[in-house]
Amino acid sequence: MPTLAEKKSTRPSRPAPELIFGDLWEFDPAPETADPKLKPRYDLFIGGEFVAPKSGKYFTSINPADELKLADIALAGRDDVDAAYAAAQRAFDTTWGRMPGRERAKYIFRIARLLQDRAREFAVAETLDGGKPIKESRDFDVPMAAAHFFYHAGWADKLDYVAPGRRVAPLGVVGQVIPWNFPLLMLAWKIAPALAMGNTVVLKPAETTNITCLKLAEILQDAGLPPGTVNFVTGAGETGAAVMGHSTAAKVAFTGSTEVGKIIMRSLAGTEKKMTMELGGKAANIVFDDAPLDQAVEGIVNGIFFNQGHVCCAGSRLLVHEPVADRVLAKLKNRIRVLRVGDPMDKNTDIGAINSKEQLGKIAALVDSGVKEGAEMFQPACKLPAKGYYFRPTIFSGVSMSHRIAREEIFGPVLSILTFRTVDEAIEKANNTAYGLSAGVWTDKGSRILKMSVELKAGVVWANTYNKFDPTSPFGGYKESGFGREGGRQGLLDYCKLA
Ligand code: NAP
Ligand code: MG
Repeated sequence: MPTLAEKKSTRPSRPAPELIFGDLWEFDPAPETADPKLKPRYDLFIGGEFVAPKSGKYFTSINPADELKLADIALAGRDDVDAAYAAAQRAFDTTWGRMPGRERAKYIFRIARLLQDRAREFAVAETLDGGKPIKESRDFDVPMAAAHFFYHAGWADKLDYVAPGRRVAPLGVVGQVIPWNFPLLMLAWKIAPALAMGNTVVLKPAETTNITCLKLAEILQDAGLPPGTVNFVTGAGETGAAVMGHSTAAKVAFTGSTEVGKIIMRSLAGTEKKMTMELGGKAANIVFDDAPLDQAVEGIVNGIFFNQGHVCCAGSRLLVHEPVADRVLAKLKNRIRVLRVGDPMDKNTDIGAINSKEQLGKIAALVDSGVKEGAEMFQPACKLPAKGYYFRPTIFSGVSMSHRIAREEIFGPVLSILTFRTVDEAIEKANNTAYGLSAGVWTDKGSRILKMSVELKAGVVWANTYNKFDPTSPFGGYKESGFGREGGRQGLLDYCKLA
């Protein structure tokens, strides 16, 4: 009889995790087929009507998955922005601003329900215009946008409880500018609290993603929202600057890059305008050696590859405890080998198209810098479609804090891995960034989660999960990730005066 030790020594050693998976098997294509009901041309939405831009100019919106044209979009100039603010001020003075909260609630509930009714159509339009996988726009963006309207509709007749002991009043007209990564959801985050509080709105969506915003204008019409309560002006950066700088705006709310946020803050310094800024991020996702590693790997993948990494709170820096670093890296490589990259309209696609050619160029340049600075790159050998803007999921190991890929926001499907030995080192490395929007912690110990959530300078800290959102939960940044909160009671406080 062999001894136990002998038995152990003859047992074949476990294959390294890298060898467990073979090639990816192929599914048949499963394209989503719902009709997005697109119009060939979209005008501005001012005073409850679709109106042509005064200049008569339009620009083209394309589908980043195949570079084909989707629609013409109106280019708003300063005159159009003036008209939108005049309509919003009129609505504030005569209808929306004077309406009791319980009446406003009815309209906001109606918007939420109409959006639910047209959810599939909106999901397809969002995917065509922005490039994100249909399973995300269908299961996340559109339902979450509807949830934001439902949640804020529920607040509209209970505003006395927003700041107990104080009276709240709307500010007036608010100007809002949003980015392209969650076009409909960012729109909902911006307009739902503003409307619940009794403000009226002028909003500019991003240049590459206007369509779901203008489709929502159709819903606002169908809901019978008083004309001028919400106005949409489409265009490029200059249109955004005109919206942010307009003298009628009592408050401006911006979501976008830290770079543009700083330009806006400089231009508004010394004015009376209230401001909230939701800016960039470089989140640390921190994995300790006692974490359930398979679960953590799913969280890491979701944290950085969700929506092609076009996520301000993406877990773009993985800080992994040294004893498990090799195992986590091997598991991650296996996992990303089986991610499906390609047609965003296919229900099996995990990683869709990068939103624009310009963004693709920025991602590629930062990835090149990572290679040049000596980090080790891994990309699966997946085939990319011939047309459209695509980027392979990418993992860098051997990254140090001085590398650009560890410091700058990449806003693409690129993960930088750093290691740590102690809790304090993890905290120090996580906080060693100009940003502070979010962080993730993976560990079995509740006490460690509590310590980390206190010490991490980030607006959101997820524990043993990542990228979880809820309208009741405030979201926002520290440091160069901005100020102000969106969602929850705190988000409403940013849209009112207290008396
Ligand atoms: P961006 O370049 O800053 O653009 C954001 C918006 O600002 C767009 O609508 C843009 O219009 C407009 N804009 C450009 N120049 C302007 C100016 N001078 N004045 C006023 N508006 C101007 O950002 P992005 O590339 O679209 O979005 C990615 C960034 O957004 C990332 O940094 C990400 O982290 C951040 N983000 C933050 C959050 C958050 O909650 N903290 C959420 C989502 C995204 P055009 O599109 O026409 O250029
Ligand atoms: Mg587009």
